Amino acid sequence: MLAWEVDMAVYDVQFTDMERGIRDQFRKYMENELAPLTEQLENQEILPFPFIEQMIADLGLAPDADWLESTGGVKNGESSAEPADDDEETKRIVTFAGNQLTIEMARVNPGLCSSWGVSVGLCAGNIRKHGTPEQIKKYVPSVLRGQKIGCWCLTEPGAGSDAFGSMRTTAKKTGDSYILNGSKTFITNAPYGDVFLVYAKDADTGAIQAYIVEREWKGVTTSKPFHKMGMKTSPTGEVFFDDVEVPADNLLGRGVEDRDHVRKSLAGERLGIATLSYALAEKAFEIALEYAKSREQGGQPIANYQLVQERLARMYVDISNSRRIVYAKQQTGSVIDACAAKLYVAEVGSRVTQQAIHILGGYGYISEYEVERLVRDAKLLELGGGTTEIQILTIARHLLDENAGAQTFEAHRVG
Ligand SMILES: Cc1cc2nc3c(=O)[nH]c(=O)nc-3n(C[C@H](O)[C@H](O)[C@H](O)COP(=O)(O)OP(=O)(O)OC[C@H]3O[C@@H](n4cnc5c(N)ncnc54)[C@H](O)[C@@H]3O)c2cc1C
Repeated sequence: MLAWEVDMAVYDVQFTDMERGIRDQFRKYMENELAPLTEQLENQEILPFPFIEQMIADLGLAPDADWLESTGGVKNGESSAEPADDDEETKRIVTFAGNQLTIEMARVNPGLCSSWGVSVGLCAGNIRKHGTPEQIKKYVPSVLRGQKIGCWCLTEPGAGSDAFGSMRTTAKKTGDSYILNGSKTFITNAPYGDVFLVYAKDADTGAIQAYIVEREWKGVTTSKPFHKMGMKTSPTGEVFFDDVEVPADNLLGRGVEDRDHVRKSLAGERLGIATLSYALAEKAFEIALEYAKSREQGGQPIANYQLVQERLARMYVDISNSRRIVYAKQQTGSVIDACAAKLYVAEVGSRVTQQAIHILGGYGYISEYEVERLVRDAKLLELGGGTTEIQILTIARHLLDENAGAQTFEAHRVG
């Protein structure tokens, strides 16, 4: 355990023995199995998906896949989130483990964590939550196991921050099908995706609904991966829909969901982004701290200089505040808190990684050193899942809207 972690026990985030055991298991796996592949992954010599599938198998991350395949998530005649009736403590540990897994993966390779999170969380997770039993049976298990790659398609070339208002992709009902036309961009995993959860406007009613689309269908094409600033392990690209015939059975949840469902998905994505940002800030901070203690200038470690100490202390303040948000967030489900967490911790991610580069001096600027990659990866987290400005506008709207505000504080109390 690092000295700064011992000190953090004075704050409200402390690991129990069981939590520390979970943390250690994931950390060891990522350091032994993922870290050696990161250079090849970042250079795009290999894709992240075989590793993701192997990781899911090795760590037993898809315990419900068989159950979902046979039942479609139906238990005692009703749709159910989980096969087992777990007690509160078991549920808490499962939530902790999911959060810690994200942290340990992102400490080593944030790009791989993005590809995994979008496929398993945003694609399979949303189908599992909102889909019919038949949709769950057909699409969720293989994505949860990492055998198929999932994508979550909301953003369009002309519809980013205003994803709903400016959406151009349409679905036109004809008989037992919908005809899908349009395109989506900046889609994580798109160049290699198998299952696309696509948001489109009903050509007749204007309602925005989600459709499950398969790569093999006529009229579905994808671009090559974009060249990006960071998150290079994670392929990003466009998806085009040209008169794609989508069976009516593939309308997610047979159309009972609407914008509210997308907003809830975005809240989940934002919490995930906060966790990812924390992880890369924590890693950059540890690298900078160790470097400051070992790098000598003027006959002594640079950590002896108070100006360096101030930088380290300010980084620690950012990390410690973010840590409490990231661990406490498991208890609240409100949109305003998800936006607040994402806004704050994503800025910490960029700030702390920038400071880490500064402490490493010229070495921080060289690609061989990890902090140079982390600072590039961190920037995406201020843009994706809604930019900083969109988080601010959403927080303000909730504060000023009486109804939304009441829900916010209620969620706080219950949490
Ligand atoms: C690597 C990567 C992966 C991604 N993965 C996915 C994915 O898997 N699925 C998906 O659907 N999307 C994905 N995205 C898209 C991402 O969510 C959008 O890029 C983001 O929402 C911003 O949209 P935009 O890029 O069109 O920027 P714009 O909306 O054009 O914004 C440009 C600038 O204008 C500002 N701005 C816009 N509107 C306002 C306003 N009303 N008030 C003040 N300022 C404003 C923004 O804050 C920003 O600074 C990904 C993006 C990237 C880069």
